[in-house]
Amino acid sequence: MPNNTIGSSSTLIDYQPEIILLEDGVEEYPLVQEILSRLPSEIPRKKFQDISTLTEQMRSSQHDVFGEGKKRLALSRFKGSFLKKCPGISPGMVCCNYYVVNLAKNCIYDCSYCFLQDFLGNNPMQVAYVNVEDLLGELEEVFKQYPDRNFRVGTGELTDSLALDATIPYTAYLLPFFNQQTNAVLELKTKSDQVANLLNHSDPTNIIVSWSLNPQTIIDLEEKGTPSLAQRLESARACIDKGYRVGFHFDPIILIPGWEEAYRQLIDILFDSLPIAKVEWVSLGSFRYRPSLKHIIKNRHPETRLFTSEHLPGKDGKFRYLRPLRNHAYETIRGYLKSRSEELSVYLCMETREIWEGVTGKTPRSDKKLDQFFDL
Ligand code: SF4
Repeated sequence: MPNNTIGSSSTLIDYQPEIILLEDGVEEYPLVQEILSRLPSEIPRKKFQDISTLTEQMRSSQHDVFGEGKKRLALSRFKGSFLKKCPGISPGMVCCNYYVVNLAKNCIYDCSYCFLQDFLGNNPMQVAYVNVEDLLGELEEVFKQYPDRNFRVGTGELTDSLALDATIPYTAYLLPFFNQQTNAVLELKTKSDQVANLLNHSDPTNIIVSWSLNPQTIIDLEEKGTPSLAQRLESARACIDKGYRVGFHFDPIILIPGWEEAYRQLIDILFDSLPIAKVEWVSLGSFRYRPSLKHIIKNRHPETRLFTSEHLPGKDGKFRYLRPLRNHAYETIRGYLKSRSEELSVYLCMETREIWEGVTGKTPRSDKKLDQFFDL
């Protein structure tokens, strides 16, 4: 474990898996010892040899494989290459030069729109990879190999970057490592308020923390188990005070009846809560889904309001609100943001060139400020 001050066990969140599954040999990793020391000793522990075999065994007898999987924590070694280019590079979409590393799979929250329900639908566990030393070795090699490239690395593709940080303190490894880099920044993307480890760390260099935000009515309806808007903003404020760079994702934007007023109020709350000049950017992305996700959402979240509007498939096969409605939503929300701060950088996530041009009047690579963002 790196020599770093991490939130004490008295500040733990109350995530308590029903069982801890330990791959043979993982106890030798310092991170595993740390995790076990932070979880109650009464939680049953079981060893396993091979995660594929375990996965097969566990998924066979279950009704809601994905949902039940959130209650089982499996600690395993990742055996492939950690660093991947962001899957945002899909047909017709504009990409923002982003890399992802997946240190964990599944999430303790249960948002109705979460694509993991489909992507990890047969995954009966919350998996955390514990060989972080291998990840850091790989990153160091790649960053050195391409000294002229700027790497923007996120850990929040298949999980929330911080929700479990009090139990599985990945940031204890990642923050000191990224502090030392000359061509890489780390983005921690979250809906959580688990920032104790960040606040206890002395150096914010090369770290960006970003929060997904939605109006509280949408959080209540569609983001089960997540901290409130106020808690997220309070955490963001504490990180700004500590010197971290902070950004926000309005993603997914969900067009419930009265969405204009709901997003206008959200923007007012955001601007009234934080020194907005310290906010790096706000990104906008509308609700989108692969066709296979729809029936999963309807089964797992029968009360959802996600399907009250019409959606059509785009070039990447994902369904979205119709283009005029998306355009209108982006223009409206961007307009609210810009009316409060002309300087604020606002960009679109997972959108087509046509929508970019329609909403911002610019092609992504034709705008200097956006280029700086993409090349961050
Ligand atoms: S916070 Fe993100 S990863 Fe977690 S359930 Fe919600 S959408 Fe999925």
